[in-house]
Amino acid sequence: MGQPMRPRLVVSALLPAAVTDRARAEFDALVHEGADDMTQAEAIAAVRAHRAEGLLLVNTLRLDAATLAALPADLRVAATCSVGFDHIDTAAARARGLIVTNTPGVLDDCTADFAFMMLLAAARRAHEYDDIMRAGWRRRIGQGDLLGVKVSGQTIGLLGMGRIGRAMARRARGFDMRVLYHARNRLPPALEQGATWFRDLREMLPQCRFLSLHAPATRETDRIINAGTLALLPRGAVLVNVARGGLVDEDALYDALTSGQLFAAGLDVFRAEPDFDLRFAALPNVILSPHIGSASVETRNAMGFRALDNIAAVLAGRGPIDPLWS
Ligand code: NAP
Repeated sequence: MGQPMRPRLVVSALLPAAVTDRARAEFDALVHEGADDMTQAEAIAAVRAHRAEGLLLVNTLRLDAATLAALPADLRVAATCSVGFDHIDTAAARARGLIVTNTPGVLDDCTADFAFMMLLAAARRAHEYDDIMRAGWRRRIGQGDLLGVKVSGQTIGLLGMGRIGRAMARRARGFDMRVLYHARNRLPPALEQGATWFRDLREMLPQCRFLSLHAPATRETDRIINAGTLALLPRGAVLVNVARGGLVDEDALYDALTSGQLFAAGLDVFRAEPDFDLRFAALPNVILSPHIGSASVETRNAMGFRALDNIAAVLAGRGPIDPLWS
């Protein structure tokens, strides 16, 4: 008796060992190894060569219409290890009958923890203080020097109040903050938890000493934070973006940070990644990170396992757990 046939899988991204170990144990898996994630051409070639039925990817692999068209028809499911799916042409995937899944829910806490860390760090100048210490300190800092912005008790506006936005709101409430939010739809009271909904973003912004972005990158949200909306914030506001760089007009953001309209910003995501706009690296009032909001051991494992669960479910003939459409 031979072993039962295991479903054929390509893992196109560099993932934690716990995830690739499970992929190898449960699938006939071609697991990418190398310095970087597979390119589009490498992924197409690997799926063809391995006759893969499943593809596990992250958001460094853009599944645009041309790439989807080049993937063989044997491929039945593509699972992205992310909740965001702006790197996937969903209309093209759907048209060719490919099932696509993401990993909602398992990364909410870690992404919100990270967003709140960026908020605190930006407001309280954490990286500037760290720089002073690494340079040896050895100088007087007066009571009026290097002051930050108080966080506790202030008003925060959330652009997007989905899974991660609501996790951010829970953290803000722990700091006695007043929570406002803008989304297209108002949430039921049980999910609002006392937060105030604004149908119109522009009406919310003048009240927001802090603004944190938690909406997906779509045509509608492209550059939703621009010179006009930034000007509506109170002078000296703090912006946090751990959502997607596409939400922000980066020239306008740069101007707001250098003019004092924004006191500071915490940025995890950029319009161009990894080749982000280096002007931001020269600004002391910005704390930067390389699109890494969900990156804890526990959460990255959970994301990988969730993606594998989705692929296994589809290839076993059960429906996907987290389909992008139904
Ligand atoms: P979600 O549960 O789908 O929530 C999205 C929220 O955005 C909802 O409140 C939605 O409400 C709102 N929204 C959507 N389109 C909008 C629009 N045009 N105008 C205003 N609000 C809009 O998503 P999530 O799981 O919280 O994730 C949010 C995003 O975070 C993801 O899409 C991803 O890009 C990003 N993310 C980043 C990282 C990182 O590492 N930096 C990690 C995880 C996630 P309505 O539909 O009512 O408008």
